[in-house]
Amino acid sequence: MYSQTDRKAAKASPLIYLVEDEDSIRELVLYTLDNSGLEAKGFAEGKSFWQAMEEKQPDLVLLDIMLPGEDGLSILKKLRSSKFSRLPVIMLTAKGSEYDKVSALDGGADDYIAKPFGLMELKARVNALLRRTRPGNQEELRLGDLRVNIPRHTVTVGGGEISLTIKEFDLLVYLLRNEDAVLSREQLLQQVWGYDFAGETRTVDTHILTLRSKLGSAGALVKTVRGLGYKIGEGE
Ligand code: CA
Repeated sequence: MYSQTDRKAAKASPLIYLVEDEDSIRELVLYTLDNSGLEAKGFAEGKSFWQAMEEKQPDLVLLDIMLPGEDGLSILKKLRSSKFSRLPVIMLTAKGSEYDKVSALDGGADDYIAKPFGLMELKARVNALLRRTRPGNQEELRLGDLRVNIPRHTVTVGGGEISLTIKEFDLLVYLLRNEDAVLSREQLLQQVWGYDFAGETRTVDTHILTLRSKLGSAGALVKTVRGLGYKIGEGE
């Protein structure tokens, strides 16, 4: 048996706050994070960010340095001397500014990304920091009798080990990280196989079939949602 907290932790997708005043960058970053199974919210300045912080604390903050009003370094300083002192923060620094990088790290940022950055790099840095700071959430995923240990790449059902291919494993992890969410074939192709377009969606169907059969008694957790795609969950 597992506790209610474990279930909740395995289920929630990480929440990211982004403070960036440039609309085009903010929208692009939010779009990218959204598409990688993360929940992301954007703020154009400090005031609305602080309001949101009081309502709900995120798992990670992406913080631009140059902002109108309160700048990113002041926000960082305030975070570090507040009840949010342990919150993971990545600073977005100006191109080639050594001063920005040093100030960000000195100010207690966990990492920085220099502008202009690639979206793949951004995703990788965010995920790396989340892995470091949310070990309990990321190392083992659980659902019913199913246990997936990510660093050890092992899957067990009721204690018995199941042997999966790498793609089947990745597919299962992605489904579990989005428990109860309906995922389209295109989305699964993009996220698990890394295709940028809707390619052979039949690939997804065949992998789901073998995954279900290999999972044995836990196979029924993987559900077909007619006309939409697939999901994993204990409910209907
Ligand atoms: Ca800016």
